[in-house]
Amino acid sequence: MEMRQELERQLKRLKMPGLWHALEIRLAEAREGKLGHLDFLSLLVQDELSSREDSMFTKRLKAAGFGVEKTFAVFDYRFNDKALPPSTLRDLANCHFIEQRQNLVIGGPPGIGKTHVVKAIGREACRRGHHVLFRSTQRLLGELLSDSAEYAERMVRRAVSVGLLVLDDFAFRKLDQKEAEMLYVLAEERVGKASTVLTSNRPPEDWYAIFPDAVVGGAVLDRMVSSAIKLISTAGKSYRREVMGNPSRTATKSVAKAPA
Ligand code: ADP
Ligand code: MG
Repeated sequence: MEMRQELERQLKRLKMPGLWHALEIRLAEAREGKLGHLDFLSLLVQDELSSREDSMFTKRLKAAGFGVEKTFAVFDYRFNDKALPPSTLRDLANCHFIEQRQNLVIGGPPGIGKTHVVKAIGREACRRGHHVLFRSTQRLLGELLSDSAEYAERMVRRAVSVGLLVLDDFAFRKLDQKEAEMLYVLAEERVGKASTVLTSNRPPEDWYAIFPDAVVGGAVLDRMVSSAIKLISTAGKSYRREVMGNPSRTATKSVAKAPA
């Protein structure tokens, strides 16, 4: 017993909680003669590694700031398969575009699932070890231009350096000069170095009009949008309106599903 307490203390000092938690099960398996010495050690090391990966994933999710989290597991791929083609979504979920430092633009009418999709992609990115920052564009600009210089500086550093930056609801309203210049800083610092995702209810050709002058607007959009992967639809059904706002449809759906 004493040896076990000592071991627990030592594993705590070594910061190996995963190994400690798995120990009882692995010891039992070993006693049953299922595991050789090397298997025993190797499994415990794997237990520790997967526990570390889980806790890093949880930390990255929290840091990303998704608010209400959305996943592909609960996404109905068929609902808007024209506006958001399932095969494209699956490709994006692999996060290769992040490794290739490409940008992504998702445009289309409200309620079609743009935010859901980018949150789900962001989650996959966290799982793959990328640092992610998710914000509505308005909120992020507020943070980057915060009155607290220290906070603003810290947020700018983060927004510049994360592997995936999501600017949700881009081009929602007109920008002032300071905001436009801040977007230029992000665009210039990130282009070719890290991925930025923009979603918007307006098509990219309307985005120039939100900038106070054409020069800065052109400079930002050229860097952020011109070579981005684009998923732009003018149609697309609102899931918010058609499914969530319509209990009869949801009910029919579940009734229809029941016999299967
Ligand atoms: P958008 O950002 O395009 O305005 P959202 O992503 O916010 O739309 O979607 C509106 C609501 O509908 C959200 O609660 C979202 O989770 C849900 N939703 C949208 N599309 C789907 C879908 N295909 N499957 C499941 N839920 C969806
Ligand atoms: Mg949205």
